[in-house]
Amino acid sequence: MLQVKSLTKSFDGFKAVNNANLDVQNGEIVAVIGPNGAGKTTLFNLISGILKPDSGQVLFKGDDITGLPPYEICRKRISRSFQVVNVFNRLSIFENTQISILSRQKKTWNLFTPSSSLAVNETNELLKNVGLYEKRDHISGALSHGDRKVLEIAMALGGNPEFLILDEPTAGMSPEETTRCIDLIKGLREKYGLTILFCEHDMEIVFGIASRIMVMVRGGTIVQGTCEEVRCNEAVQDAYLGGSDVCLM
Ligand code: ADP
Ligand code: MG
Repeated sequence: MLQVKSLTKSFDGFKAVNNANLDVQNGEIVAVIGPNGAGKTTLFNLISGILKPDSGQVLFKGDDITGLPPYEICRKRISRSFQVVNVFNRLSIFENTQISILSRQKKTWNLFTPSSSLAVNETNELLKNVGLYEKRDHISGALSHGDRKVLEIAMALGGNPEFLILDEPTAGMSPEETTRCIDLIKGLREKYGLTILFCEHDMEIVFGIASRIMVMVRGGTIVQGTCEEVRCNEAVQDAYLGGSDVCLM
């Protein structure tokens, strides 16, 4: 479904992403792992159009989407969440979610219908599916960190994606919030038939939900394979754990 070929992006001569390769099949959950600064977020920014690569290619269902602006990538049904939560703080949960649905329905510029009455059923249904319906009138800036992360997933789903990119979905969450969020992601994948690409530091989560893993170090792909293949790969041990002879997990 998604193919990343030799993707490279430099910032002032520093190669943040350096010859990265990745493939994701339809229906898979693929994890990208790697130490801080490995280039995971930059890779997701390149796939989702926030940054333009210097070289390399991104193919989605066979179409070349390299360097397209984020809104065009979103229209191809690729949505994402951010490592640092990115919601409209002064709007309610309902309004944030409604905006994402309206932007897809292209009804954002209707002058004659009050916006509060648009896509109400769809917004409520989505909020029920992510467990935020009871809090729909709460102001987003005042929510717990865990709820804000989930709200962002709801906003990503409002774009009706087939392909969902999650940048550290459980970062900063309590253990209880983390468990709930992972169960939620698994359930949403089933419900919406999603293909998911995510990055995450918690190896228990990675090995628990990923069907395959790509390991990134210093901007490049070390290996992509099944959990088993990655777990005891020597290059991964050297690069990721500093030469430890103990397998990951
Ligand atoms: P990760 O998500 O794996 O922790 P990032 O993709 O955020 O890594 O960052 C990879 C490297 O690129 C880091 O060294 C980071 O400082 C650098 N980097 C990321 N974005 C920028 C930017 N906009 N300008 C300059 N350097 C950046
Ligand atoms: Mg990151």
